[in-house]
Amino acid sequence: METCKICQHECEQEKDICSNCRELIKKLDFKTFNEERKWIEELFVSRFNNFLLIFSLIVTAGFANNFNNWKSIVFYFGSLLLFFCWLPLIRAYHKYDHGVRILLTTKDFKDERNQIEIMQRLYERRKNNMFKTFTMSKWLAYYIPIACIVFLIAVGLGITFCVIK
Ligand SMILES: [Zn+2]
Repeated sequence: METCKICQHECEQEKDICSNCRELIKKLDFKTFNEERKWIEELFVSRFNNFLLIFSLIVTAGFANNFNNWKSIVFYFGSLLLFFCWLPLIRAYHKYDHGVRILLTTKDFKDERNQIEIMQRLYERRKNNMFKTFTMSKWLAYYIPIACIVFLIAVGLGITFCVIK
């Protein structure tokens, strides 16, 4: 049994999207939905920018302070803070990912041809090559934030065990 890519409920047949969601998507109109997608994309990117900004502030605060015995606390607390900032980024990523998926897989909106047909063809082609699961947005949402948090924890541990001075 497959699960629906949007509502996560069980899906009939081997479809990506259940009939309920399919009905809802049919009622969408392209322009409004594309505007919505644009708004969500801006939200996602701005949350990613904020994440990087907070990361760089924590790194600066961690190295450029005078607490000789408490330096590692800044990194531990910073990684916790960064983790909390990561959650809204993941949420925005899922919204964005659903939006893009709907745009790239829906053939028509309200009986009108989807206006980004060329993008759909490129998307179809990508599905067949070895990079089918690779998306840049996943890097922004998962791999870069994980690397940042792991970096802070590693530096914190390094200071605790006197590897980094
Ligand atoms: Zn569904």
